[in-house]
Amino acid sequence: MGFFADSVNRISPSQTIAVATKARELKAKGRDIISLSAGEPDFDTPDNIKDAAVRALKEGKTKYTDVDGIPELKAAIAAKFKRENGLDYKPSQVSVGTGGKQVLYNALLVTLNPGDEVVIPAPCWVSYADIVLLGGGKPVFANCRLEDGYRLQPEVLDKAITPKTKWFLFNAPCNPTGAAYSKEQLKALTDVLMRPKNKHVWVLTDDMYEHLLYDDNVFYTPAQVEPALYERTLTVNGLSKTYCMTGWRLGYGAGPEPLIKTMCKLQSQSTSNPCSITQWAAVEALNGPQGFIERNNKVFKERRDLVVSMLNQSKGIKCTKPEGAFYVYPSCEGLIGKTSAKGIKINNDEDFVTALLEEEGVAAVHGAAFAMSPFFRISYATATDALEEACKRIQRFCGNVR
Ligand code: PMP
Ligand code: GLU
Repeated sequence: MGFFADSVNRISPSQTIAVATKARELKAKGRDIISLSAGEPDFDTPDNIKDAAVRALKEGKTKYTDVDGIPELKAAIAAKFKRENGLDYKPSQVSVGTGGKQVLYNALLVTLNPGDEVVIPAPCWVSYADIVLLGGGKPVFANCRLEDGYRLQPEVLDKAITPKTKWFLFNAPCNPTGAAYSKEQLKALTDVLMRPKNKHVWVLTDDMYEHLLYDDNVFYTPAQVEPALYERTLTVNGLSKTYCMTGWRLGYGAGPEPLIKTMCKLQSQSTSNPCSITQWAAVEALNGPQGFIERNNKVFKERRDLVVSMLNQSKGIKCTKPEGAFYVYPSCEGLIGKTSAKGIKINNDEDFVTALLEEEGVAAVHGAAFAMSPFFRISYATATDALEEACKRIQRFCGNVR
């Protein structure tokens, strides 16, 4: 019998974090590295939010709080859902955790029994499948195609659902593809969930990239386009991306009260409340001025256009133009089976990103980490000049592959 639990032996370390850590280590050793690996905005947290944190600190708001959030924050979250999504949630239906990651973790851990299935459109964020596995459930990938702009097709969703399906785990705009859905495209998916044979399935929607949408795309969340789903939906969101607060660790979810209470029970036996100072900063983030979002998005959109255009000029790379988030997910199929300038054989997307890091100092994350190969993910939440230089290096790397 091994020392470590079977549950933890089932999972791997987060690959996005692993690549970002490796890039930081190489940089610290003096290598010229451009990291396009981590999914975090390079912009700083807005000053009004920082000031609210300083105020909270000075006012001594440094004690334990209610486990799943202070009343002021739950009220701000309920107001946000009403204002931005047209959803009515009482504060008692809101759960606040240490990052969206903890909220997703709580929800899955308190609902999964051995054999329960979770349908996840692939490619998907690295942590979904591992959290499901940790909880004893079974991830079932519903594959999306580059040709469909990486949007899940309704019939593919329907086929993936079985009597054992507990959750449909939805994420749009999507990490890693940036794909988003129009109201009609989303309604086509919620219609599938309303079919009599699928009415046992709950929706776990990860709306983390809600505000990061470009051009004329408009955001909708499942319970908004199909109100009948409200009773079996947990709507998850967070401050990391929109408010440039990745290090502060705050996320939230809203749904039926029994689920929220059970998630609180788990959190009371693990981390207790999220940081008290962060919670007061979050009240300001949600209630305060939102104008910086549009300013940041203007920069993100320009970067997206730059990256898509430069990648499509790289030999063997095919890149779609995504609607949102700050990622692109190009195919590197044209380079598989070939050899890099320094003699590395590229058998798969992991070899591709390894060779790219070794030979050109550009860190990207391989598609296998997101459950769809041969692709790679680039985060363009990086200074524009560094991004341009990285794309030049990718062009050079691909041009030299034989
Ligand atoms: N969901 C998605 C799709 C993500 O990309 C991330 C990554 N940062 C999270 C959830 C978790 O974010 P956090 O824990 O920082 O709120
Ligand atoms: N979600 C971000 C990413 O995909 C941050 C790292 C993580 O938690 O996975 O890169």
